[in-house]
Amino acid sequence: MRLWRVEEAGRLIRSELAKYLAEAWANCGDENCLARTPFDPALVGVGRWWLGPFTIGNRKMGEIPFFSLPPVLTCPGATEFCYKWCYAVYEITNWRAYVREAASYLLSLREDFPQVVGKYLARLPHRVIRLHVSGDFYDEEYFEKWAEIARQHPDRVFYTYTKSFHVVRGEAPQNLIIHLSADPHNYIKAVETWREIKRGLITYVYTPGQEERDLPAIKYILENTDARILVFLNHVQHAPRLKTALWKWLREALGALSQRIVLDPEEFAGRPQCAECALCWRRGVLF
Ligand code: SF4
Repeated sequence: MRLWRVEEAGRLIRSELAKYLAEAWANCGDENCLARTPFDPALVGVGRWWLGPFTIGNRKMGEIPFFSLPPVLTCPGATEFCYKWCYAVYEITNWRAYVREAASYLLSLREDFPQVVGKYLARLPHRVIRLHVSGDFYDEEYFEKWAEIARQHPDRVFYTYTKSFHVVRGEAPQNLIIHLSADPHNYIKAVETWREIKRGLITYVYTPGQEERDLPAIKYILENTDARILVFLNHVQHAPRLKTALWKWLREALGALSQRIVLDPEEFAGRPQCAECALCWRRGVLF
């Protein structure tokens, strides 16, 4: 399937603009240096809501810095579901974000990526960092760079959701929290991977009106793992939240198994934001 957003991301990765932005990030490491570059502050990442390649928060998460990559192109585990519903493809509609993702990808290719990230982390006071609001672990080498960053910053927590199941089987420290992102096309692989790595949540995006497809998948995951399932809402449809009705349906259909399901509070009830909820990185909840 050809998607404008994905083709544009490919064009931006090859652009001079992304190349020079990545170089500016690598050569700087603080606000003063970034402010002296010729770039627009919101592009190079100077101000309340950015620091270089990190964007500080969004509507769902609240004030949590994140590092993103271009969607689909950096997602070797992308499924048909991603092409049809990925919010990074359909809901991020900011050209600066597109350029920043492309430059972030170029930055991530550098051997000194962990050192460059370290310079920015030293200036971010936040304990929790989100990886990949858009994008994913595109190969083992890149995954190992984040594992190294997490090892070098044991006081921070890095969390992410991934479909790159074959990539995340490598060693990773406990403060790199990896949740497996299952959908109707990959949930059996998600189960196989979770049984191997035995860490994190398995997430599943529920699509209103698709109960006959989604229920067997959720049941299969619950019956074949001990994982907790975090259910997201397919909000690209802007469907009503339906939390009470969905709970009733899950309890009736799954009985005691439903006790291992969490409906994402922000997506189904509108609050709290992740910064307050913290379920996705709270110890004791995940394991
Ligand atoms: S469960 Fe909580 S922390 Fe995790 S994504 Fe939902 S709102 Fe954010």
